[in-house]
Amino acid sequence: SPLLDVRELVVRYGRTTAVDGVSFQVDAGETVGLIGPSGCGKSSTAAAVLQLRRPHSGEIRFGGVELTALGERELRAVRPRVQPVFQDPYGSLSPRRRIRDQVAEPLRAQGRWSAATGPGRVRELLALVGLDGEHGGRLPHELSGGQCQRAGIARALASDPELLILDEPVSALDPSMRAGILNLLLELQETRGLGYLFICHDLAAVRHFSDRVLTMREGRLTAS
Ligand code: ADP
Ligand code: ADP
Repeated sequence: SPLLDVRELVVRYGRTTAVDGVSFQVDAGETVGLIGPSGCGKSSTAAAVLQLRRPHSGEIRFGGVELTALGERELRAVRPRVQPVFQDPYGSLSPRRRIRDQVAEPLRAQGRWSAATGPGRVRELLALVGLDGEHGGRLPHELSGGQCQRAGIARALASDPELLILDEPVSALDPSMRAGILNLLLELQETRGLGYLFICHDLAAVRHFSDRVLTMREGRLTAS
């Protein structure tokens, strides 16, 4: 059975129907691209999968578990398995905490932190995304956008996820930094067997990454 199984998803904001009956699956280790014009409902789909927004109707199964029926407490067990990377590199990190403490957070939250192994694990995670201990000691605003996006990815990886929801992960970066982040994501895909739901304006990048590409228009998937 698929890792992620979305059926007849509907997301509304008041009277606006942002997602209007969308169904798709993502298998373990698979990358599915999601493209379409601005406002067609890509981010709303991502937010629903991440349980950041309750859908109006439909089903979202992750690892066979129906998420829309779960309470906040039960969702806490699922959240580490499906992690987001958003457009704004600074937005997903808290501005006043050092990078290394933020990368450590998921380890602590999941009871995988100890004084003996924690700091080494954080250094490994930072190294995996091309950062070092010196970067780890800084605050988000003391890093470039690209470095900060790397830190956010390290934090996402700390949960040991199976699927990353990438919502325009390079759109806010300087063009010079985009290739570096895309290469990092490709490397993680290959070396860690990670699956992605990959939302990106850069069609060439989406095609390069994805096993399949879904196209959305006005809240629906179109035949592509
Ligand atoms: P993009 O098209 O690149 O996804 P948008 O400008 O549509 O970016 O959305 C940027 C952010 O603003 C998103 O978090 C989205 O949820 C929010 N947003 C978009 N449209 C509205 C709206 N009409 N009212 C409130 N928030 C919105
Ligand atoms: P995309 O990611 O494809 O640009 P979005 O999911 O951000 O599309 O937006 C889909 C539709 O929902 C748009 O009409 C947008 O204006 C609307 N929308 C998105 N977020 C909000 C929000 N927080 N409040 C109200 N409307 C929103």
